[in-house]
Amino acid sequence: MIPPDTVQKILDATRIEEVVSEFVSLHRRGASYWGCCPFHNEKTPSFSVSPSRGIFKCFGCGEGGNAVHFLMKHEHFSYPDALRFLANKYGIEIKEKELTDEERQAQTERDTLFHVSEFAQKHFADLLYNNEDGRNIGLAYFYERQLSDDIIKKFGLGYCLDEWEAFTKYAISQGYSEDALVKSGLSIMKEGSEKRIYDRFRGRVMFPIFNASGRVLGFSGRVLTSEKTSAKYVNSPDSEIYNKSNTLYGIYQAKSAISRQDLCYLVEGNIDVISMHQAGLENTIASCGTSLTKEQIRMIKRYTRNVTLMYDGDPPGVKAAIRAIDLLLGEGMRVRVVLFPDNDDPDSYAKKYGSEAIQNFVKDNAIDFVRFKTGILLKDAGNDPLKISQAASEMVNTIALVGDLMERTESVHECASMMRISEDTIAQSVAKAILRNKQKAYDEEHKNAETAPQETTPPPADETDSGTTTPITSQSGNQFLQSFFPCEEQEKKIIEILLSHGNDTITQPAKDEDGKDIFEEYYVATLVISDILNDNIKFDNPLYQSIFDEYEAFLKQGSLPPDQHFVNHPKEDIRLLAATLLSQPYSISEKWYEMYNISTPSPDDPNVIANDLHDSMLNLKMKKLEQKITQAKEELKTAPNDDEMMMLLARIKQYEAVRMAIGKELNRVIT
Ligand SMILES: [Zn+2]
Repeated sequence: MIPPDTVQKILDATRIEEVVSEFVSLHRRGASYWGCCPFHNEKTPSFSVSPSRGIFKCFGCGEGGNAVHFLMKHEHFSYPDALRFLANKYGIEIKEKELTDEERQAQTERDTLFHVSEFAQKHFADLLYNNEDGRNIGLAYFYERQLSDDIIKKFGLGYCLDEWEAFTKYAISQGYSEDALVKSGLSIMKEGSEKRIYDRFRGRVMFPIFNASGRVLGFSGRVLTSEKTSAKYVNSPDSEIYNKSNTLYGIYQAKSAISRQDLCYLVEGNIDVISMHQAGLENTIASCGTSLTKEQIRMIKRYTRNVTLMYDGDPPGVKAAIRAIDLLLGEGMRVRVVLFPDNDDPDSYAKKYGSEAIQNFVKDNAIDFVRFKTGILLKDAGNDPLKISQAASEMVNTIALVGDLMERTESVHECASMMRISEDTIAQSVAKAILRNKQKAYDEEHKNAETAPQETTPPPADETDSGTTTPITSQSGNQFLQSFFPCEEQEKKIIEILLSHGNDTITQPAKDEDGKDIFEEYYVATLVISDILNDNIKFDNPLYQSIFDEYEAFLKQGSLPPDQHFVNHPKEDIRLLAATLLSQPYSISEKWYEMYNISTPSPDDPNVIANDLHDSMLNLKMKKLEQKITQAKEELKTAPNDDEMMMLLARIKQYEAVRMAIGKELNRVIT
């Protein structure tokens, strides 16, 4: 746990150009550095780093963010690990928060559990080869599943003897406490008239569950007898170190292949994972003894955005796949599905046809989620029109979860053609669904944050950085946003000025105490905030509104947000938006000007800022006014009585007058 003030210290010390240049070769041009983007393939540099703003930005693929974000993307670090990397680089000592007695005890307990789990894994693996029962029962089972010795060792498989207390007694003789054995779930304590402690996994083959760095967290044990009385699989209960919902089976063995291939195969069972690895598909993992969770998806996202589901083709498998699709899309992943022929799962298919066949099968039969889900729904619906319309609305909700505009457009196209519904109809319903989702998310967030102005310190670094990339920040999303935020362009411009020049000062005409004309220095932020508040303007786009609110909270406390506050913001969508807005459109033209050595009025010139602010503010007001006029005219059509109608007409007249005045100031002819 890194204390917030240390996080700030690290961010303050960080020079983004120094961090990025450890991985990308950069050349200075004017105020920025340029290089070839490490996130997409390119030969001419469109990847820029701005030292003054503390951000990187690629004009090719749109990646952008601060130094921490760069490390998370490039090195697949978690948020705290990226901070630790920077702390190390800049010689900042991380005093992990002073632990309370309780926390210290928890820490020791965790260590103890790690040790006893590792001991158990080694012991079970040893029994598999060096004990008669281990060989005859455990190893025989794995051989029967056609697993090689190499793969058995790679996954640390083992065997627990079919005796009540063999493991527990041995562990105690080796110095492990009853308490640790019970808390790790390896042993079970039976209280009562006679206290008894015995092995949880007796007579089972053992699949150890590793975390991404290779430590044993728990076990999954499979029974070998066909007795109906015992469950086929028994898993370790959740403990201080093991939590089913944020563990992925196989992640330790698969992570580098997933990252290298930029693709992750997700299967249902442990055995499927192992046999896929044996068949050469080393980027395969499974959610561990539970249905897929958001936490698991966020872990996968550290390595890739691309997931292909390989679930069984039976009804429960299909149901699980449909559920997983929505969850994955909601976290910004790209999803494909491979369905195996009847009665086959990945494991049985690999056994029947061999490694090469399954590799080809998976490559040739992965279909995108739209084709998969629409196909299933249409098959269920048959010719029933009601069911078909239900299917369409279900597809709309799923497609609305796709964050990227291009990908979403493609999905709409595919779905429309499969369902034989017009593309416009689907697209419009999708847009509505997205707006609904955004509103819901916004309401929820503000319900929780109603009290007190926004926290200004970043949260402690042990909170995993779990933000998802929303369409609002993606470049391609702009067009789309305009379709339902009519003032998007004008609102964005104001936020852009606030972020790039909020802390700059400009002079403005004012009156002194005697009413004489003078010039006064103002912070751009003060001018923007007071102007917007005076006119009671609200931003349609909730993300802009929350940046505005945060700025306002700072001003209320008599301060300004520190440089790079928004670029280093704890919320990922704000961080990305700040990076996007700060690096365009000026930086593009800067690049050209710099390349051709043309002198240009600097965008940081106070006069340029003042003019820009003046016009942008009027443009926003004009647009908001036009919106109000349209709305009033709509109301006029359905006015219930003359009084109401007169009132509306008067209001429209008022609006029109203001509109004329603004137009005049903008030197526009208003008709
Ligand atoms: Zn790029």
